[in-house]
Amino acid sequence: MNRTKLLAANWKLNKLTGEAAEFVREYAAKLPASPVPTVLLPTNTALQAVASACKESGKTPSELAFGAQNCYFQSSGAFTGEVSPEMLVDLGCRYVVLGHSERRAIFGESDDLIGLKVAAALKAGLTPIFCIGETLEERNAGKLEYVLARQVKVGLANIEEAQLDKVVVAYEPVWAIGTGVVATPEQAQAAHKYVRELLAKKNSEAAMKMQILYGGSVKPDNCYELMTQPDIDGALVGGASLKVDSLLELHKECTRASR
Ligand code: PEP
Repeated sequence: MNRTKLLAANWKLNKLTGEAAEFVREYAAKLPASPVPTVLLPTNTALQAVASACKESGKTPSELAFGAQNCYFQSSGAFTGEVSPEMLVDLGCRYVVLGHSERRAIFGESDDLIGLKVAAALKAGLTPIFCIGETLEERNAGKLEYVLARQVKVGLANIEEAQLDKVVVAYEPVWAIGTGVVATPEQAQAAHKYVRELLAKKNSEAAMKMQILYGGSVKPDNCYELMTQPDIDGALVGGASLKVDSLLELHKECTRASR
């Protein structure tokens, strides 16, 4: 099946509002026509600036969209410091990253919590970018498939079968995130194929349609080889998404891989 590719830029804890807006203006001005959408994922404080700059750019969401890096599963209430999916929709977000390995490792997010968040995001009308991936220790212990199966099972436990194809999955081996050590195209393809098989057990038709992104030290010079693997449908990029020229290069490579 010919799935459209997607390029998602995880800016993590970077960029003040002015920098984020300037980035969008420059990126949008240089962004060529392409079937590959770019999704910008700024920190929450820059969401409004990114929303305004995207609107001013005149780009459609199928060219340039934005989203958040996290949200809570409740809509409102006594949850100090949290942001709800509805609040993100209110700002114009279309996407939200959930279960990023930094949220799991640094902030102690469990598979169960992530599962609640995925369901809440879908209910609010957001597309979750649901992240999964193994640590080096788990891979070396032969637990890759076990970990991915557990993360997929629990993370998607609270959604209807019919909603499955509204989820974007991101396979991000933890050992490749921010390390400069990228998975080989063969390693990434094997994991993606396995994840698609797991999804197919839930809904085989949906699994064929679903975008599974690769993340972990994607750079312009390794992007094409990864993106041309049959089960890799785009990239979730951290470090290399922070500079306009680098993100444009990644977009060019994703577009080239779509042909
Ligand atoms: C990420 O944070 O999701 C990521 C893949 O980071 P990097 O591209 O820097 O490895």
